[in-house]
Amino acid sequence: MSGKVYLVGAGPGDPGLITWKGLEALRSCDVVIYDRLVARELLDEAPTQATRIHAGKTPGAASVSQEEINALLIGHARGGATVVRLKGGDPFVFGRGGEEAIALAGAGIPFEVVPGVTSATAVPAYAGIPVTHRGTASSFAVVTGHRADGGQRWNELARGVDTLVLMMGVASLRSTTEELIAAGRNPQEPAAVVEWGTTERQRTLMGDLASIADIAAAAGIESPATTIIGNVALLRNEIAWAPVAGSSAHLAAAPRTARRTP
Ligand code: SAH
Repeated sequence: MSGKVYLVGAGPGDPGLITWKGLEALRSCDVVIYDRLVARELLDEAPTQATRIHAGKTPGAASVSQEEINALLIGHARGGATVVRLKGGDPFVFGRGGEEAIALAGAGIPFEVVPGVTSATAVPAYAGIPVTHRGTASSFAVVTGHRADGGQRWNELARGVDTLVLMMGVASLRSTTEELIAAGRNPQEPAAVVEWGTTERQRTLMGDLASIADIAAAAGIESPATTIIGNVALLRNEIAWAPVAGSSAHLAAAPRTARRTP
């Protein structure tokens, strides 16, 4: 009999941001196949005997191909295993979860999608930036800055959306901001870049649309980073907060006996 695959969103970094449903799936799986940005604490939540497989994609480095990941999911499920595919943030937001779901459906493997807290909203939130705010922003768009993904409608995005959340493409931040300015976006619009958001390494830098790429480069900002462009970025001046250190420690402290094991 075939096993089952759970496509689980792990959240943006802080392990406490996984969902209850995701944690339950993780605690009862036989195999966990996880991405680069998934919190280590979460891997400890899988049963001790569960097989852990890293399938991360590190920018600029050789990695497991999407076809290989699909084959791993299908292979382990066909062998009868309960498989958790643990992905950063939400599996269906720039997570290629859709491709994996299509492959599973095509192979006739039962699966469930467990949505996650996406870094698109959680990373700004941890920096004190609401992506919408009454009177300031009534729309937001989440866009990849990655050139290779192409097809972004910069003209429409520059003029038609209040808050822009740029994911990926740290290296192309300059060309993205130039593109937006050329398309008519105000160069003086507030902007923020957040590196390793929701984690202990979180760094937030402020600037404006014209300056944020230089500011990020000067500070050596690297992936993972999310850039927020819009007047909401200024709200950080009033809202900036810091999570209590170790506030997700209850995860590691959870009694082993309380777990569902297969
Ligand atoms: N599925 C994920 C996104 C995967 S794409 C989600 O829903 O969050 C990876 C991009 O997400 C990174 O390049 C970065 O832009 C953003 N990202 C993920 N984790 C982040 C973090 N902790 N801090 C800042 N940005 C992050």
